[in-house]
Amino acid sequence: MTRLLLIGPPGAGKGTQAVRLSQACNVPAISTGDIFRSNVQNGTELGLKAAEFMNAGKYVPDSLTNDLVRSRLNEPDVDNGFLLDGYPRTAAQVAELDDILAGTGHELDVVVLLVADSDEIVKRLSKRALEQGRSDDTEDVIRHRLDVYAEQTAPLIEIYSDRGLVVEVDGLGSVDDVTARITGALDARGIALLAS
Ligand code: AMP
Repeated sequence: MTRLLLIGPPGAGKGTQAVRLSQACNVPAISTGDIFRSNVQNGTELGLKAAEFMNAGKYVPDSLTNDLVRSRLNEPDVDNGFLLDGYPRTAAQVAELDDILAGTGHELDVVVLLVADSDEIVKRLSKRALEQGRSDDTEDVIRHRLDVYAEQTAPLIEIYSDRGLVVEVDGLGSVDDVTARITGALDARGIALLAS
């Protein structure tokens, strides 16, 4: 019954770790980026609206993002917990998540902050651009996404630190090493994990 957030700059490895952590914690991983991308692929109304922001490396407006998360967190599979990957990213989204959770009487257990330096991030994202062909992984857009992260999302770390929720983990090294670091930190906080 764990409710966790995964925060970190683009390219820190959130998506990869989210899948593994959701298995370790036995909760669904909810990635707003994945949900937006699948809407874009399926040509939904939301996808059409989100695409213009995503392709420019900008955040999708809070109103659209908050509605999406509110409805996803009302589905029954999150009753026993969830892992949010890439949400919240703005102060307004923090307020929305607080409100959603207050409505269900639940609280966050932990915020995992995955850190990586910007040279490493640019290297990883350029590699991902070649491998996955994501339209927001071009060099200019990567730089813009890093700026937007620094401006709008980095300040959230202090909000959650003040609540005593943040666990900072170094995102450098092999995927297995990073997973082990995160699960070690969660274990140390008494968060229940499935044996791998
Ligand atoms: P990600 O896969 O998490 O890197 O997200 C890819 C893109 O989706 C971001 O660059 C944004 O354009 C959009 N996006 C994902 N999550 C959010 C969010 N919480 N708020 C606003 N935009 C988001």
